[in-house]
Amino acid sequence: MATLNHNYEKLPGSYLFSTVGKKVRKYETEHPGAKVIRLGIGDVTQPIAPEIITALHKAVDEMGREESFRGYAPDLGYGFLRETIAEKDYRDHGCKVSADEIFVSDGAKGDCGNIQEIFGTDNVIAVQDPVYPVYVDSNVMAGRTGKYDAVRQMFEGVVYMPCTRENGFLPELPKEDPDLIYLCFPNNPTGAAMKKEQLQKWVDYAVSHKAVILFDAAYEAYIREPGVPHSIYECEGAKECAIEFRSFSKTAGFTGLRLGFTVVPKELRTEGVSVRDLWARRHGTKYNGAPYIIQRAGEAVYSESGQKQIRDQISWYMGNAGIISEGLKKAGYEVSGGVNAPYIWMKTPGDMTSWEFFDYLLEKANVVGTPGSGFGPHGEHYFRLTAFGNRENTIEAISRIQAL
Ligand code: PLP
Repeated sequence: MATLNHNYEKLPGSYLFSTVGKKVRKYETEHPGAKVIRLGIGDVTQPIAPEIITALHKAVDEMGREESFRGYAPDLGYGFLRETIAEKDYRDHGCKVSADEIFVSDGAKGDCGNIQEIFGTDNVIAVQDPVYPVYVDSNVMAGRTGKYDAVRQMFEGVVYMPCTRENGFLPELPKEDPDLIYLCFPNNPTGAAMKKEQLQKWVDYAVSHKAVILFDAAYEAYIREPGVPHSIYECEGAKECAIEFRSFSKTAGFTGLRLGFTVVPKELRTEGVSVRDLWARRHGTKYNGAPYIIQRAGEAVYSESGQKQIRDQISWYMGNAGIISEGLKKAGYEVSGGVNAPYIWMKTPGDMTSWEFFDYLLEKANVVGTPGSGFGPHGEHYFRLTAFGNRENTIEAISRIQAL
């Protein structure tokens, strides 16, 4: 008789964004005339930059000719893309990362969710609270946690590292001695970013505790302030203790095209074994490579004009972030983020819970955001807005909130 992986039953309710989606659809059905503005889900809205579109067309044409047709891509990614990433994202920024430490994939979500597979089920994980929910959920599915405590909104056996207004939304080093530490900077949902000296302390901690840091840098391209590291490998010793995830989704609008990569340094060894080799084995077994066409598009992101075009796009989104932050502050809200990340993190008024505020904004202003409690217990009484909307809608949404 087939049985199920009962760890899945520990997961409470449905995924955050599907709950948000259901509520919004219900509201729209009941109020057909309402012009609802979505500043909730972190999906981009700007079209793919022209330089990347040209590369896509060229690669499509190559696929139509026998002499340039490509079948299966190499499991770990085409050399042209891995070399370009190693040079432009790392070596040009003083980080010694080589092409064979880069694993190209169809995005960071899969990589962040799958990486836990190569670690023992007895590893204790630590996560920022609040944070992108994939880290905890993927470990729940793998049986690395106890049951869900609905009152505390926490899984047993997970080290939650509170990120609060008091600590500037930056976690403190854990006392519990976890084995796998997920760090996400710039952070989704709080928008907080760590300075290099602060991140160095985490690297030193991981090296001395023989822990592994799983560093999600999906929003690296949004960093504006000097002194904020774009890669964990800017810190000394990080190649011995850290894996880094990157994504083309928010950097270049690839949420629909799908492309990302993970860096697993050769120096990273656990129990004397190369973690890089294990990840290569896993990737080779379960993954047949990102499409050639998309990898060529990824390469175009690094060209001179590609870089200019995507930088302009990111600045444009960050213009929205400024409008949201300033507008909310004027309306008297307590706001953070939006400086090194496309996310604005606001305190809900009074004692309102995150979901109460969600309903209030949807009903009174027809604006959709994301309830902070969906990202972890310390996200309660907070709310996330994103800078990915179009300009007109962003301005309209903020003026509606101001009018409340
Ligand atoms: N990591 C973080 C922190 C994210 O917020 C997201 C997307 O929202 C991802 C990873 C997923 O990125 P991708 O689209 O490359 O799968």
